[in-house]
Amino acid sequence: MSFFKTGRPFVIAGPCSAETREQVLETAGELSSMGVHLFRAGVWKPRTRPGSFEGNGEEALKWLLEAKKEFNIPFTVEVAEPGHIELALKYETDVLWIGARTTVNPFQVQRLAEALAGIDIPVMVKNPVNPDVSLWQGAIERFEKTGITQVAAIHRGFSGYSSAVGYRNQPNWPVPIELKRRRPELTMICDPSHITGKRERIAEVAQKAMDMHFDGLMIETHPHPDEAWTDAEQQVTPAMLKAILEGLVVREEFTQDMTGLVQLEYLRQVMDSLDDEIIDLIAKRMEMSGKMAELKMACNMTAYQPARWREIVETRSERARKHLLSEEFIVEVYEKIHHESIRKQLQVLESAEKKIIS
Ligand code: PEP
Ligand code: MN
Repeated sequence: MSFFKTGRPFVIAGPCSAETREQVLETAGELSSMGVHLFRAGVWKPRTRPGSFEGNGEEALKWLLEAKKEFNIPFTVEVAEPGHIELALKYETDVLWIGARTTVNPFQVQRLAEALAGIDIPVMVKNPVNPDVSLWQGAIERFEKTGITQVAAIHRGFSGYSSAVGYRNQPNWPVPIELKRRRPELTMICDPSHITGKRERIAEVAQKAMDMHFDGLMIETHPHPDEAWTDAEQQVTPAMLKAILEGLVVREEFTQDMTGLVQLEYLRQVMDSLDDEIIDLIAKRMEMSGKMAELKMACNMTAYQPARWREIVETRSERARKHLLSEEFIVEVYEKIHHESIRKQLQVLESAEKKIIS
């Protein structure tokens, strides 16, 4: 059985950084009594700017091993260099995790994967800081290729310039959903601490992750969060973690409830036929685009006409408003449709130009 399939959610908790021996032992003791599956602590911290606390390194691994033996709880640390792997293995680390700033770099990921050749230890790969599904998938594959059989993906959100929408790292849910579509068997863990950056919002994002069918959660937990040396605002106490976990509603992908299943099947059939209609209508719309391209060519007009695009955005937004649909969503859909329509019109114009030249 997979290391990560022991309970849904599979819970990983522990401080952002291993600060002192006392802090590690106190937190690990409390978390193990709550049934947390895996204890986490950073011993090498990737800091954005120099001059701040960068982790206690090897010394902290000794504390983690002591906690593991005393409380019988496995632990995980972030590794970013082959030297980290060597030390992590020396101190009997159970699971390794690759940080977001490492996943972005295929050279470094390859070096780490090679350092693990012949050693089958579970590895968790955080998403890269930019929302690139293939880069994330590629990092996972590099570990699999060197023989790691138990890999999990951790969704920790994506950086952006502004946190105006209220997250430290934007969740951008379609990215992990796409990874799961490509790799259905992959264990998916959500890290609401780094997504939100604020302890008050962790419960909400953890619930969302469960409803998005994630298998596990990684939540930063510290005995005195406000005094934490790193990521103070997003860490919770063990008691808060307990409340968050108890408050979670864990729903299943499938149900045995026959009445519910029959109703769902009916709604799905209606939805399937609506989707057929949507695609048929898009095809008709594209046919119109072809006719318009011929006309624009005959009248010597450009394929893209800014005034017409402005009008489309205004009228379609207005219609979206009437149906209580998100205007932003409808405009995004139309951006795609309009872009495709212009692409087809340009093709018509181009082939006409080729005919003139030849
Ligand atoms: C962390 O988990 O403490 C951490 C540094 O995470 P990330 O790589 O997601 O920033
Ligand atoms: Mn952290």
